[in-house]
Amino acid sequence: MLFYRLQMLTDIRTFLCLLMLVICPASVLADPPVSKKQEEASRVILLAELAEDEDVEDVVRSEPRRSVEAPAPLTGPTPEEPAPKAAQPPQAEPKKVAPNIDLKEVAPVPAPEPQADPEVQVTPDSGDQQSSEPPEDSAPALSESGPQEHLAPEAEAEVEAPPRAENLVLLGSEVLPGTSTRLGWSSGIQIAGLSQPTPVLVVNGVNAGPVLCLTSTIHGDELNGIEIIRQTMYDLDPEKLSGSVIGVPIVNLPGFQQGSRYLPDRRDLNRHFPGSANGSLADRIAHSLFEKIIRHCDMLVDIHTGSSKRTNLPQLRADMNNPAVAEFTRGFDRMAVVHSSGSPGMLRTAAVNAGIRAVTLEAGESHRIQEHQIDAGVNSLASLMEKQGMISRMFVWGEPEPVYYDSAWVRADHGGILFSKAELGAKVSAGQVLGHIVDPITNAQYPIHSSSDGRIIGMAVDQVVMAGFAAYHIGTKAKVPGE
Ligand SMILES: [Zn+2]
Repeated sequence: MLFYRLQMLTDIRTFLCLLMLVICPASVLADPPVSKKQEEASRVILLAELAEDEDVEDVVRSEPRRSVEAPAPLTGPTPEEPAPKAAQPPQAEPKKVAPNIDLKEVAPVPAPEPQADPEVQVTPDSGDQQSSEPPEDSAPALSESGPQEHLAPEAEAEVEAPPRAENLVLLGSEVLPGTSTRLGWSSGIQIAGLSQPTPVLVVNGVNAGPVLCLTSTIHGDELNGIEIIRQTMYDLDPEKLSGSVIGVPIVNLPGFQQGSRYLPDRRDLNRHFPGSANGSLADRIAHSLFEKIIRHCDMLVDIHTGSSKRTNLPQLRADMNNPAVAEFTRGFDRMAVVHSSGSPGMLRTAAVNAGIRAVTLEAGESHRIQEHQIDAGVNSLASLMEKQGMISRMFVWGEPEPVYYDSAWVRADHGGILFSKAELGAKVSAGQVLGHIVDPITNAQYPIHSSSDGRIIGMAVDQVVMAGFAAYHIGTKAKVPGE
């Protein structure tokens, strides 16, 4: 009898097992259950890391702007300025001279395979070597003014003039004064044979001056900055430029190609600077960019857009508690400047810590090319270069001074569909209805009110939101530093 009961229990267990097999989806059974679990666990961790977008959290976590301080001196380092930049990494080998390319000229499509030219140096750092250059670019010597139509014949002529620039050594190449060129940066994380260098544009002015760096698309879905850099750099005349401009239009090339904000490992690159050579994929890319390019900069403008279906008025994000950075923001005319102390791992934070004056320029929304936002960015960069003595402009339009803001986000208190009444850039007063959340099931409508008098400097586009979603970024005017 006892034996019979045991037998029956066993049968029931078998039956249950079979039943579960039938219920379980075939896809689950196809995958080993352990790896599925691991994958889900890693996804949870990554989502937690990426859950909030940088723009909102920057402001929320930002240390408050301190009360008005004495103006930073116009020139020279300030006492609070971080330690001077570390010496550039030793350049062991003599570098090849970068070809002089008129950036306005349409470049040939890069050759798909690496150059077979034995003249091309292969250094231990060979990831830096541009492999996407058209064949004529490998011509090594400055003195050859022969068949290359773009090589300025007077390049070697000595000009008795104001302090002449020196060669700019970057990514294994020397960019001569009065020339512009395209280089390639490789972070070395890819399969070497499949590596695709990230284009880097360089204009080395004929006269000495500061090095301004422009970076964009650290978030691969943010496109306005690509065009801002193209228009800015392609209009520069190296014969009239003092100092040099280095532009990296698409830092996150893999993300850009997939229309994704993130890296292939789903990390936010702008949380990993200055990076580390032995860390995660994001750490290594950040480290490579920082060491090979950013450390050469005196000034950095990192260009972004709003994220998560939010749009931003063209604006700078800057740590106004840092006098050198606050002074730097004065060069951008017609621009809103929003104080944000910056989060650890952001490129501008790491750059400021390395003694580089750095700000983030926000313009528009992701996945889009927006003419007005691009115009505002290009104009502000031209203004900056003029104020820094790098160029002189014939016509100046726009307001001469930036406008400074402290800011706060107004969040949705209900889930539903967001319909905005107010527009980006609008001036608003406290209590004013900015938009409504409509519950599509109950038909309830909930107004969203402005928290203060000010201006909408960023906002969500109409979309489905949950309670807590940051919907409107309200800027309230703050005093100009030093006044
Ligand atoms: Zn961004």
